[in-house]
Amino acid sequence: MFGQVKSLMRRVFAKADNAHSSSPQIISRDHHGISRSNISENALKVLYRLNSAGYEAYLVGGGVRDLLLGREPKDFDVATDASPEEVKKVFRNCRLIGRRFRLAHIYFGREIIEVATFRGDGRGDRRSKDGLLVRDNVYGTLEEDAWRRDFTINSLYYEVKTFSVIDHVGAMADIEAGRLHIIGDAVERYREDPVRMLRAVRFSSKLGFVISEETSKPIFECAPLMESVSSARLFDEMCKLFLHGYALTTYEQLRHYGLFGYLFPLVEKSLEQQDHDYPKTFIARGLENTDLRVSENKPVIPGFLLAVLLWEPVRTLVAQKCEQGMRLMQAYQEAADEVISQQVKSISMPRRVSLQVKEIWIMQAKLSMRRGKKVFELLESNRFRAAFDFLRLRHQSGEEVSELYEWWNVFHQTDYDEQENMLSELRHRQEKNGPRRRGRSRNPYRRRRPQSEMESE
Ligand code: ATP
Ligand code: MG
Repeated sequence: MFGQVKSLMRRVFAKADNAHSSSPQIISRDHHGISRSNISENALKVLYRLNSAGYEAYLVGGGVRDLLLGREPKDFDVATDASPEEVKKVFRNCRLIGRRFRLAHIYFGREIIEVATFRGDGRGDRRSKDGLLVRDNVYGTLEEDAWRRDFTINSLYYEVKTFSVIDHVGAMADIEAGRLHIIGDAVERYREDPVRMLRAVRFSSKLGFVISEETSKPIFECAPLMESVSSARLFDEMCKLFLHGYALTTYEQLRHYGLFGYLFPLVEKSLEQQDHDYPKTFIARGLENTDLRVSENKPVIPGFLLAVLLWEPVRTLVAQKCEQGMRLMQAYQEAADEVISQQVKSISMPRRVSLQVKEIWIMQAKLSMRRGKKVFELLESNRFRAAFDFLRLRHQSGEEVSELYEWWNVFHQTDYDEQENMLSELRHRQEKNGPRRRGRSRNPYRRRRPQSEMESE
């Protein structure tokens, strides 16, 4: 009796909060396009195994959403009424992870199926004084779980027993309309977890969905909440935002909503003082290039992406340091360290990534020096390709490095004899221009051609 009242109350509140009907819409197999043949065999194994152990289990989230949209899911997530410990008992290849919300990861070689226990209605949650969800480790029913998800389109459940899709939140209508809509009150949901704002941008860029007004408008005022998100979590989010083939639109949207500056404060500042559209063009080209590589199935590394995004602050600092008489290489070393140590306050980077970033920048100085034997060492280095691609981007975006770029472009593709010729010709030219000054280096960053000159080349 008490349970019934509680459930009724919950439905009434849910209805008031979300203006959706809380009785689920069940979409049977002949009314949706999800076929088992498109679901990963391992995800199916997990569903069947949990079902036969007596638990409810559904495919949920991005997997269902993407299958309905005819896209290939990135991964498959499962929701169940089994507790994480119960899941662990069913699968030997299972590891429990997460402190904030315990999840089970089931390992099948390189594929991981993430299994989450239904989350409860939030009464046991702990919040900080500004509404941030600190702990929400309370389990619940499928219906409660559905209302706790971020966007309607991420809250669809596929049941393998019946082949049907369960929709508690009006998700099917939003899928059909191409609309991204947050579940519940947007301000409250962004306060609970500000990363949902980044997710809104990510899903709308990825799927080409329009963000509903109730979902988008509050982002402008809630953007400062981003400051409370841990820098480690932001590294993962940043990779999802920029390394999956829709980086350019994502970047434009992040700037539109005033979110970008919380991820990259130094870059935001340099964009405000941009010179002949330089950093804007450079970043846009860099991101376009990353998207192209993803679409061609070529590898993309976070180091290259970060080197692109943070280039303008580094370039400006190098110029200042050279102006003050510092040698080019030292200027690069110091500028790189300063920019990275500022940036990790917002988004932390694993050490291997910050090394990649620094290496790409330092190699710009080495590429510009072109000294004897060192040239061949550079060419052999396994970062040459990334550094050369970076130089090309600089050239294409209007930095005064055309001669350098053209030189390397020929040099790295020609045979050894021709390379020797190119080097001796370069030596002659350098000698004709007088001996290299020791100590102060010429500042190669002082003047750039305006973009219009570039376009006419
Ligand atoms: P994709 O994996 O394609 O990036 P996804 O929707 O599967 O997209 P995940 O990060 O894998 O995203 O999360 C799985 C599901 O968990 C989401 O679809 C959503 O239902 C829920 N979810 C994830 N993060 C949040 C969040 N911050 N707040 C509420 N629900 C969330
Ligand atoms: Mg997913």
